[in-house]
Amino acid sequence: MNRLNPTLPLVFDTRELSRRPGSMLEMRRTVPAPDDLGDIDVIGIPPGQPIELELRLESVAEGVLVTGSAHATATGACVRCLDPMTRHVGGHFQELFAYADRATHHREVAAEDEDDDDEVYELVGDLFDLEPVLRDAVVPAMPFQPVCRSDCPGLCSECGAHLADDLTHHHEQLDPRWAALQNIATPPAASPSVTSQQSNQEKRN
Ligand SMILES: [Zn+2]
Ligand SMILES: [Zn+2]
Repeated sequence: MNRLNPTLPLVFDTRELSRRPGSMLEMRRTVPAPDDLGDIDVIGIPPGQPIELELRLESVAEGVLVTGSAHATATGACVRCLDPMTRHVGGHFQELFAYADRATHHREVAAEDEDDDDEVYELVGDLFDLEPVLRDAVVPAMPFQPVCRSDCPGLCSECGAHLADDLTHHHEQLDPRWAALQNIATPPAASPSVTSQQSNQEKRN
Protein backbone atom coordinates (compact mmCIF):
# COMPACT_ATOMS: atom_id res chain seq x y z
CA MET A 1 0.00 0.00 0.00
CA ASN A 2 1.15 3.52 -0.72
CA ARG A 3 2.37 5.73 2.07
CA LEU A 4 -0.22 8.09 3.47
CA ASN A 5 0.29 11.81 3.72
CA PRO A 6 -0.24 12.66 7.42
CA THR A 7 -1.15 16.26 6.58
CA LEU A 8 -4.27 15.23 4.65
CA PRO A 9 -7.38 16.07 6.68
CA LEU A 10 -8.82 12.54 6.51
CA VAL A 11 -5.60 10.78 7.46
CA PHE A 12 -5.46 9.99 11.17
CA ASP A 13 -2.49 9.18 13.35
CA THR A 14 -2.86 6.38 15.92
CA ARG A 15 0.53 7.00 17.54
CA GLU A 16 -1.05 8.34 20.72
CA LEU A 17 -3.08 5.16 21.07
CA SER A 18 -1.36 2.44 23.06
CA ARG A 19 -1.06 -0.88 21.20
CA ARG A 20 -2.39 -2.62 24.31
CA PRO A 21 -5.84 -4.05 23.43
CA GLY A 22 -8.57 -2.12 25.21
CA SER A 23 -6.82 1.25 24.98
CA MET A 24 -9.06 3.96 23.66
CA LEU A 25 -8.77 7.42 22.23
CA GLU A 26 -11.60 9.79 21.42
CA MET A 27 -11.33 12.75 19.12
CA ARG A 28 -13.32 15.33 17.22
CA ARG A 29 -12.20 16.88 14.01
CA THR A 30 -13.81 19.17 11.45
CA VAL A 31 -12.59 18.30 7.97
CA PRO A 32 -13.29 19.78 4.54
CA ALA A 33 -15.44 17.46 2.41
CA PRO A 34 -13.51 15.51 -0.23
CA ASP A 35 -14.59 15.66 -3.88
CA ASP A 36 -17.57 13.71 -5.21
CA LEU A 37 -19.43 13.17 -1.95
CA GLY A 38 -22.82 12.57 -3.52
CA ASP A 39 -24.16 14.15 -6.68
CA ILE A 40 -24.29 17.92 -6.36
CA ASP A 41 -26.98 18.15 -9.09
CA VAL A 42 -29.29 15.98 -6.98
CA ILE A 43 -27.91 16.18 -3.47
CA GLY A 44 -24.36 16.07 -2.18
CA ILE A 45 -21.84 17.67 0.13
CA PRO A 46 -19.95 20.34 -1.80
CA PRO A 47 -16.16 19.88 -1.76
CA GLY A 48 -14.65 21.85 1.09
CA GLN A 49 -17.89 22.00 3.09
CA PRO A 50 -17.10 21.24 6.76
CA ILE A 51 -17.81 17.73 8.01
CA GLU A 52 -17.94 17.23 11.77
CA LEU A 53 -16.30 13.97 12.76
CA GLU A 54 -16.45 12.23 16.10
CA LEU A 55 -14.17 9.23 16.39
CA ARG A 56 -13.31 6.61 18.92
CA LEU A 57 -10.15 4.64 18.23
CA GLU A 58 -9.82 1.36 20.08
CA SER A 59 -6.81 -0.91 20.20
CA VAL A 60 -7.79 -4.50 19.43
CA ALA A 61 -5.63 -7.56 18.77
CA GLU A 62 -5.97 -7.20 14.98
CA GLY A 63 -5.43 -3.47 14.70
CA VAL A 64 -7.40 -0.33 15.46
CA LEU A 65 -11.17 -0.37 15.55
CA VAL A 66 -12.59 2.99 14.46
CA THR A 67 -16.13 3.86 15.52
CA GLY A 68 -17.65 7.21 14.78
CA SER A 69 -20.07 9.55 13.15
CA ALA A 70 -19.97 12.23 10.51
CA HIS A 71 -22.33 15.18 10.20
CA ALA A 72 -22.55 17.72 7.43
CA THR A 73 -24.93 19.86 5.41
CA ALA A 74 -25.75 18.56 1.95
CA THR A 75 -26.89 20.82 -0.86
CA GLY A 76 -29.17 19.90 -3.71
CA ALA A 77 -32.40 20.61 -5.53
CA CYS A 78 -35.95 19.53 -4.65
CA VAL A 79 -37.09 16.89 -7.17
CA ARG A 80 -40.63 18.33 -7.15
CA CYS A 81 -40.21 22.11 -7.31
CA LEU A 82 -36.50 22.29 -8.32
CA ASP A 83 -35.77 24.85 -5.58
CA PRO A 84 -32.30 24.74 -4.08
CA MET A 85 -32.34 23.01 -0.71
CA THR A 86 -30.06 21.92 2.09
CA ARG A 87 -30.33 18.86 4.26
CA HIS A 88 -28.48 17.72 7.35
CA VAL A 89 -26.77 14.40 6.68
CA GLY A 90 -25.42 12.10 9.36
CA GLY A 91 -23.67 8.77 9.01
CA HIS A 92 -22.23 6.26 11.46
CA PHE A 93 -19.47 3.78 10.88
CA GLN A 94 -17.35 1.13 12.53
CA GLU A 95 -14.36 -0.31 10.72
CA LEU A 96 -11.27 -2.22 11.62
CA PHE A 97 -7.97 -0.89 10.34
CA ALA A 98 -5.79 -3.97 10.56
CA TYR A 99 -2.06 -4.08 11.26
CA ALA A 100 -0.31 -4.73 7.96
CA ASP A 101 0.60 -8.37 8.74
CA ARG A 102 -2.94 -9.09 9.93
CA ALA A 103 -4.40 -7.47 6.82
CA THR A 104 -2.29 -9.77 4.63
CA HIS A 105 -3.57 -12.75 6.61
CA HIS A 106 -7.17 -11.48 6.19
CA ARG A 107 -6.71 -11.29 2.42
CA GLU A 108 -5.35 -14.83 2.26
CA VAL A 109 -8.34 -16.12 4.21
CA ALA A 110 -10.71 -14.07 2.06
CA ALA A 111 -9.13 -15.47 -1.10
CA GLU A 112 -9.85 -19.04 0.11
CA ASP A 113 -13.43 -18.21 1.02
CA GLU A 114 -14.90 -16.63 -2.11
CA ASP A 115 -18.09 -15.52 -0.37
CA ASP A 116 -16.15 -13.26 1.94
CA ASP A 117 -15.56 -10.13 -0.09
CA ASP A 118 -15.23 -7.81 2.90
CA GLU A 119 -12.83 -5.02 2.24
CA VAL A 120 -9.91 -5.02 4.66
CA TYR A 121 -8.70 -1.59 5.63
CA GLU A 122 -5.10 -1.38 6.64
CA LEU A 123 -2.98 0.75 8.92
CA VAL A 124 -0.07 2.28 7.11
CA GLY A 125 2.48 2.56 9.87
CA ASP A 126 0.55 4.49 12.50
CA LEU A 127 -1.74 6.13 9.96
CA PHE A 128 -5.11 5.33 8.43
CA ASP A 129 -7.18 6.99 5.73
CA LEU A 130 -10.80 7.53 6.76
CA GLU A 131 -11.99 8.77 3.36
CA PRO A 132 -13.44 5.48 1.96
CA VAL A 133 -15.15 4.80 5.30
CA LEU A 134 -16.59 8.31 5.41
CA ARG A 135 -17.83 7.96 1.85
CA ASP A 136 -19.57 4.61 2.57
CA ALA A 137 -21.24 6.09 5.65
CA VAL A 138 -22.39 9.43 4.26
CA VAL A 139 -23.36 8.82 0.62
CA PRO A 140 -26.08 6.20 1.36
CA ALA A 141 -27.46 8.52 4.08
CA MET A 142 -28.47 11.07 1.46
CA PRO A 143 -32.00 10.84 0.04
CA PHE A 144 -32.42 9.44 -3.50
CA GLN A 145 -35.20 11.91 -4.24
CA PRO A 146 -34.68 14.94 -2.03
CA VAL A 147 -37.67 17.19 -1.41
CA CYS A 148 -37.56 20.67 0.12
CA ARG A 149 -40.36 19.59 2.47
CA SER A 150 -42.43 16.41 2.63
CA ASP A 151 -45.61 18.16 1.41
CA CYS A 152 -43.95 20.17 -1.36
CA PRO A 153 -46.71 20.63 -3.99
CA GLY A 154 -44.13 20.89 -6.80
CA LEU A 155 -44.81 22.56 -10.12
CA CYS A 156 -48.05 22.84 -12.09
CA SER A 157 -48.04 20.03 -14.66
CA GLU A 158 -49.62 22.34 -17.24
CA CYS A 159 -47.76 25.63 -16.94
CA GLY A 160 -44.83 24.89 -14.62
CA ALA A 161 -45.95 27.43 -12.01
CA HIS A 162 -44.38 27.11 -8.56
CA LEU A 163 -47.40 25.83 -6.63
CA ALA A 164 -46.07 26.59 -3.14
CA ASP A 165 -46.21 30.31 -4.02
CA ASP A 166 -49.84 30.10 -5.12
CA LEU A 167 -51.82 27.39 -3.37
CA THR A 168 -55.04 28.33 -5.21
CA HIS A 169 -53.38 28.00 -8.63
CA HIS A 170 -55.52 26.07 -11.08
CA HIS A 171 -56.57 26.20 -14.72
CA GLU A 172 -60.19 27.09 -15.35
CA GLN A 173 -60.45 25.79 -18.88
CA LEU A 174 -59.49 22.27 -19.73
CA ASP A 175 -57.57 21.95 -22.92
CA PRO A 176 -60.05 20.38 -25.42
CA ARG A 177 -57.50 17.75 -26.41
CA TRP A 178 -57.16 16.81 -22.74
CA ALA A 179 -60.98 16.58 -22.43
CA ALA A 180 -61.08 14.23 -25.42
CA LEU A 181 -58.47 12.05 -23.76
CA GLN A 182 -60.59 11.89 -20.61
CA ASN A 183 -63.56 10.53 -22.60
CA ILE A 184 -61.40 7.85 -24.16
CA ALA A 185 -60.04 6.96 -20.77
CA THR A 186 -63.56 6.25 -19.38
CA PRO A 187 -63.78 2.44 -19.29
CA PRO A 188 -66.80 0.86 -21.09
CA ALA A 189 -67.82 -0.94 -17.89
CA ALA A 190 -68.75 2.46 -16.47
CA SER A 191 -71.72 2.64 -18.89
CA PRO A 192 -73.46 -0.76 -18.55
CA SER A 193 -76.56 0.20 -20.62
CA VAL A 194 -74.45 0.68 -23.71
CA THR A 195 -72.65 -2.58 -23.12
CA SER A 196 -75.88 -4.60 -22.79
CA GLN A 197 -77.36 -3.03 -25.93
CA GLN A 198 -74.26 -3.93 -27.80
CA SER A 199 -74.28 -7.54 -26.64
CA ASN A 200 -78.02 -7.88 -27.49
CA GLN A 201 -77.31 -6.69 -31.00
CA GLU A 202 -74.49 -9.17 -31.31
CA LYS A 203 -76.87 -11.99 -30.30
CA ARG A 204 -79.43 -10.90 -32.89
CA ASN A 205 -76.80 -10.88 -35.57
ZN1 LIG B 1 -39.94 21.49 -3.32
ZN1 LIG C 1 -50.55 26.10 -14.05
